[in-house]
Amino acid sequence: MATILDGKAHADHMLESVRRGVEVRRTQGLRAPGLAVVLVGDDPASHVYVRNKSAACTRVGITSIEHRLAMDTSQADLEALINQLNADPEVDGILVQLPLPKGLDSKRALHLISPAKDVDGFHPMNQGLLLEGLPGLRPCTPTACMSLLAHHGLELKGLRAVVLGRSEIVGKPMALMLLEQHATVTIAHSRTRDLPAVCREADLLVAAVGRPGLVEGSWIKPGAVVVDVGINRVDDLALGARIFAAEPKKLETLRAKGSVLCGDVRFGEAMQVASAVTPVPGGVGPLTIAGLLANTLLAADSPKG
Ligand code: NDP
Repeated sequence: MATILDGKAHADHMLESVRRGVEVRRTQGLRAPGLAVVLVGDDPASHVYVRNKSAACTRVGITSIEHRLAMDTSQADLEALINQLNADPEVDGILVQLPLPKGLDSKRALHLISPAKDVDGFHPMNQGLLLEGLPGLRPCTPTACMSLLAHHGLELKGLRAVVLGRSEIVGKPMALMLLEQHATVTIAHSRTRDLPAVCREADLLVAAVGRPGLVEGSWIKPGAVVVDVGINRVDDLALGARIFAAEPKKLETLRAKGSVLCGDVRFGEAMQVASAVTPVPGGVGPLTIAGLLANTLLAADSPKG
């Protein structure tokens, strides 16, 4: 049986370290770091994420400033708010919650955020710094995954890593961070030929595709470490019966509640083959918020201008 990599426990550890950093600022007579969160529209999942972020801010002493905008907000109004937050000396980090309602250009909005306040690490300037291996604000999810792997003492040098997914938010930056630590990295995606065979080469498999239970136990090399970034809600019983065949409790919950959260990896099957696996929920999810707050502290502590 594989070890479960407990993301919640590691997130607590990361948050404690942020809390101590905020405390150090206080003893130096500096104000608490400020995180501005911009939420446009009424996507229920986004509201849950923003609530969780705000609770985590309170826990570590970061000031969370929420800006809730109506669904029909114009691009010009959104950009005016971002410019205002860029100029606000009390704001160290700006996060525009994705997805934005249809009709709004999220790339344009994200590129407008000052790179020094870009706590999501999505600005091309910060992505460029990552590409060059220089310090900067890096995307929260892959940064937190790297922190989890380091905490568990996984030696990445020379290791064969496969990153499934090539988004700017997770897949690409994750691959760059693994490369920086001297892993041999393959990025796989929807056009990759013979995906199971590519995945089976991995000593470390990172799945970030958003397809429930795509990765079967037979795709995993025996003894591999598996990091499951995917967060999917499943409400289809036939799909559930297939992907939760080795996870009877999850299937039971699906039957009882009508839906259940799961990752891109079939957790029950992975537990029988891998040496360590992150669960969903309770794996990468809590780490991402901890990574965001660590970035907010970093932005507050960095010289401005
Ligand atoms: P995107 O949709 O931006 O990217 C998905 C990637 O997966 C694409 O590169 C796509 O390939 C690839 N892909 C899709 N289907 C397949 C397939 N059948 N076979 C192989 N590759 C495939 O997603 P994100 O990177 O934003 O998110 C991925 C998952 O991670 C989602 O479930 C999301 O909810 C979750 N997530 C979780 C976070 C957390 O905190 N735990 C944070 C961020 C995301 P192609 O490029 O060819 O289209």
